[in-house]
Amino acid sequence: MRDDNCIFCKILNGDIPSRKVFEDDDFCVIMDVDPATKGHCLILPKEHYANLLAMPDELAARVLPLAKKVAAHLQETLGCDGINLVQNNGEVAGQTVHHFHMHVIPRYQGGNASDVTWSHSSFTDEEFDAILETIRL
Ligand code: AMP
Ligand code: ZN
Repeated sequence: MRDDNCIFCKILNGDIPSRKVFEDDDFCVIMDVDPATKGHCLILPKEHYANLLAMPDELAARVLPLAKKVAAHLQETLGCDGINLVQNNGEVAGQTVHHFHMHVIPRYQGGNASDVTWSHSSFTDEEFDAILETIRL
């Protein structure tokens, strides 16, 4: 399944160049063209799924082990001191390319840890309880 308007589908199809780090039957790992740090990679499924919620469970279940493998490899080869896994779903969540991807971002001592951060919201105990009632699975 490919989406003709999707830049990652074009990369996976070979229509747009990329720097490929790893490939198996279902995934490709490429270097981010506008990296946060040295070695910033993206894990892409070869099939087009807009985001995590659109992905079949079996495929989604393979993402974390692959992210772990890539993270360990980046740590070994680049000597990074930490790794962020970031995965945005939807425009309001910061997703700009609507083909599922997971960022694997090496972090180095002296870098800016607050690069991956958010501002905080405050709720009363009653509000917390009401939210819990709404979201409890
Ligand atoms: P997100 O904001 O989570 O949707 O992340 C999209 C990521 O895709 C950004 O970090 C971009 O730098 C990256 N990106 C966009 N176009 C390309 C490309 N042609 N090759 C590699 N990475 C890309
Ligand atoms: Zn796509």
